[in-house]
Amino acid sequence: MDHLPIFLDVKGRRALLVGGGKVAARKADLLVRAGCNFTVVAPTLNDCMARLMQEHRIEHKTGDLSADDLDGCVLAFGACSDSATNRKLHDLATAAGIPVNVADNPELCDFIMPAVVDRSPLLIAVASGSTAPLLTRMLKARFETTVPAAYGRLAEFAGRYRQRVKDSIPDMTRRRRFWETMFAGPIAEQLFSGQEERAAAQMDKFLEEAATDGDQLPRGEVYLVGTGPGDPDLLTFRALRLMQQADVVLYDRLIGDGILNLVRRDAERIYVGKMPKEHTVPQDEISQMLIRLAREGKRVLRLKGGDPFVFGRGGEEIESLAENGVAFQVIPGITAANGCAAYAGIPLTHRDHAQACIVVTGHEKNGELHLNWDSLVQPHQTVVIYMGLTSLATILRGFLDHGADPATPAAIIENGTRTGQRVVTGTLETLPDKSAAAGVESPALIIVGSVVTLQDKLSWFSDTGAP
Ligand code: SAH
Repeated sequence: MDHLPIFLDVKGRRALLVGGGKVAARKADLLVRAGCNFTVVAPTLNDCMARLMQEHRIEHKTGDLSADDLDGCVLAFGACSDSATNRKLHDLATAAGIPVNVADNPELCDFIMPAVVDRSPLLIAVASGSTAPLLTRMLKARFETTVPAAYGRLAEFAGRYRQRVKDSIPDMTRRRRFWETMFAGPIAEQLFSGQEERAAAQMDKFLEEAATDGDQLPRGEVYLVGTGPGDPDLLTFRALRLMQQADVVLYDRLIGDGILNLVRRDAERIYVGKMPKEHTVPQDEISQMLIRLAREGKRVLRLKGGDPFVFGRGGEEIESLAENGVAFQVIPGITAANGCAAYAGIPLTHRDHAQACIVVTGHEKNGELHLNWDSLVQPHQTVVIYMGLTSLATILRGFLDHGADPATPAAIIENGTRTGQRVVTGTLETLPDKSAAAGVESPALIIVGSVVTLQDKLSWFSDTGAP
């Protein structure tokens, strides 16, 4: 290694910062956050620096840099544009035995400043030893998106228990297993969703059990996760995190490979969509399976296309979990309506077109559509129809039978947000034939309303899957 990575406690200690511009402001911000007392030497300050210094009452010297400025300092930072001053700072600090860093000048640095992902008290620092600052910034960005903001809370919580856990579980291997289970189980999840008291109560209980006999810490939980309409990029951070820590996953037809590939590799996969004889696993059986697996102590991932609470039967599945006292959490997903609208370039509301949006199912029950037609044929609104492909002609005829203008624009979106997305547009009168001619297949979403006319101008997504 070219450098020794350390985290320095500078709370209440002194440092010197030379410079009053953009670069100095970045250093000043870090020093403030680390609780350091520092003086700034600079002839002038930019707005950002001036504001920061005023807010934190930081001492400012406008005169020349002198050896006295370094009295009592543990660190020195050069961040000005004048190379002679930077060099002078370096020489003075070196003579006084104080480590110095001069921005963008590796030769004048005793230490380098990493890119920091701040989840205090958890800190991630990335450095490339001044070889590739852009690469470190890209890595930092990756950590920013994959390490949830709440990890800081988790670290802080763990810190409070550290000594107690050490005292209660003297054996190191068991203690490590305790922490691993705790960081990847329901206690951590409760903290992430802001339920600190419940997390603390459970932690006390787990610790007590672990101290007496406890190799088997309960961690069974169900994650009901909405995966969005198909494009894996539309997953939420939370969904991805839970997908990567699940022990077993239950999925059905609407979940594409792109998403399934992001589930932890060694998680057991259970398909609960249409079975070989073309019948779906009954809802009841799925619920029982979820309960059984969670009771075995597994972290059970139930994946749902779109959002679990929008035509996803998510409510039914967790109702039985709640009744049976199984811990669960629900992660929302981008609905097919939102995803298809955005990727097809059809805004669901628009000041000139629609002040309301109604979302309905076109699924027939016992050969009948149960739709409130009067509310669907109102002007200035958009109607989104899920599961309407098979009954497309019947549904659109329903609009006409209830007084809608035959020229009302309508669209059908096949495979929205996915490779091979297709959008067919027409009117209430023409869409069924056009859709049939194009051979539109499931999954498909219907949008009715004058917003459909905007598609010509606003369509942007095109992924035909062609190489
Ligand atoms: N919970 C899901 C809906 C599941 S119902 C949600 O929130 O979106 C299944 C219906 O959703 C399909 O029949 C189809 O109408 C619609 N759908 C789901 N994914 C789709 C996609 N990628 N493109 C078009 N329609 C989709």
